[in-house]
Amino acid sequence: MSEQIKVIRGMHDILPSDMPAWQQLEDHWRELVESHGYRQIRTPVVERTALFKRSVGEATDIVEKEMYSFEDRGGENLSLRPEGTAGVVRAGIEHGMLVNQQQRLWYTGPMFRYERPQRGRYRQFHQMGAECFGMPGADIEAELIGLAARYWKRLGLSGIELQINTLGSAELRRDYRDRLTAYLRDHFEDLDEDSQRRLETNPLRILDSKNPGMQALIEAAPKLLDHLDDESAEHFEQLKSLLDAMGQPYVVNPRLVRGLDYYCHTVFEWVTDSLGAQGTVCAGGRYDGLVEQLGGKPTPAAGFAMGIERLVSMLRDQDRVKPATDCDVYLLMVGEAAQRSGRALAEQLRDVMPRLRLIVHAGGGSFKSQMKKADKSGARIALILGEDEAAAGQVSLKYLREDRPQQSLLQTELPERLAEAL
Ligand code: ATP
Ligand code: MG
Repeated sequence: MSEQIKVIRGMHDILPSDMPAWQQLEDHWRELVESHGYRQIRTPVVERTALFKRSVGEATDIVEKEMYSFEDRGGENLSLRPEGTAGVVRAGIEHGMLVNQQQRLWYTGPMFRYERPQRGRYRQFHQMGAECFGMPGADIEAELIGLAARYWKRLGLSGIELQINTLGSAELRRDYRDRLTAYLRDHFEDLDEDSQRRLETNPLRILDSKNPGMQALIEAAPKLLDHLDDESAEHFEQLKSLLDAMGQPYVVNPRLVRGLDYYCHTVFEWVTDSLGAQGTVCAGGRYDGLVEQLGGKPTPAAGFAMGIERLVSMLRDQDRVKPATDCDVYLLMVGEAAQRSGRALAEQLRDVMPRLRLIVHAGGGSFKSQMKKADKSGARIALILGEDEAAAGQVSLKYLREDRPQQSLLQTELPERLAEAL
C-alpha cells in the first residue's frame, strides 16, 4: 500500500454530514440578502499580492504573516485571497460598477490565512459578506447591521452582541493617530514586541491587541470618542438613533478599531462569548478611502464579513441544525427484467416529478440487502419491483418509517400516489 496523503493542517473537509448546517446557513443568507436587493458577485480566489498589500495593508497580521503568496510560472506575485472585500472593490472598479452608482453586493467563498489553527481559526475558512457602494450615510450602515441581526434571528441563534464604535473622519483619525502615537511612545518599554513594531506603521491596531499584559495600558490610552468633531459625532449619533428606532440593542466599544487609514466612521462587530477566544462572528464598517486607494474614484463604501465555520459551531452548540434527509424514495429491483423496467420507471418519474428525491438501487444484491440500503438512505418510501410486478406494469409501495400496510399499485398511478404520500 502507498503512503496515505492527508489533508493540510488547518484545512477541513466539509462532509455530507456537515451539510445540513452549511446549507441552512447558505440558504437563509441567500434568501435574506436577495430580499434586500443585494446581488451576488464572484471574484477569483487568486489575486495579485499587491492588491492585498494595498487594501488590507502592509502593517497588518494578514499581510505580514498570514498570506499564502507565491510566484506563478510566469513570475507574477500572487496570493490566495485572505478576505473578500479587496477582490470585490477591484472588480467593481474594473467593470465600471462604482462611479456615480449605488451597489448592494454579496459574496461567499473560501478565504486563506496562514494562522495557528485552533477552534474557530483555520487556514482555509469561509466567509459570507455584503458590500455597499455609493451611500455615504449612517442609513446604509444601519441597514447592514439590521441585515445581520435578521440573519441571526432566521437561524434561531441567540447570544450575539452588537458592538459599535466610530473612527471619525479621515482628518480626525490623523490627529488622533498622532496623539495615540505620542502616548504609546511614552510607554514604549511596556509595549509587547508586536506593538513596538507597529508603533510607527499601524498604532491604531495596537488598541486591538489581545495580549492581557497590555490591557491596562490600552485602557488608559486617549480615546477617539472623547475628541470627535461635529461631523463625526453627528454621523455616529445618526447611526445610534437609527438602531434605536429599529429596536436593535448595541454596546459602544471604544476599543473596537480597524487599523487602516481608509476606514472611517462606523465600525462594528457581532460577538458571542459562547465560542471561547474566537468570539467574533461578524465584522464590518465603513471604508470610504479604499476604492480610491485601489485606483478608483473616491466612493463611499461599507460592508461586513461573517465567518461561516464559527456560525456552524454556534448552530450546533445551540441545537439549531435542522436534521435533513437526502432521499424520499428508494427503488429496489429484483431480477434482470425488473432492472430494466425499473430504470425506465425511474426516468418517467423524474420527468413528471422533477423535485422527487429518488435513489435507484445500483450494485445488485438480494432483496434483503437492497432493503437494508433503502433503510439506510433515510427514504420514507421503498418502491419494490420484482419480475412479476415488472411484467404486470405494477409496483409495491412500502412505508419505511410508518406502520402502514404495503400496497400494490399500477405504475401509472405512482406519481399521484407519491405526491399524496410525501
Ligand atoms: P480575528 O480577530 O478573530 O483574527 P479578524 O479581524 O482577523 O478576526 P476579519 O478579517 O474581520 O477577522 O474577518 C471577518 C470574520 O471572518 C471574523 O469575524 C471571523 O468570524 C472570520 N474569520 C477570520 N479569520 C478566520 C479564520 N482564520 N478561521 C475562521 N474564521 C475566521
Ligand atoms: Mg485575524
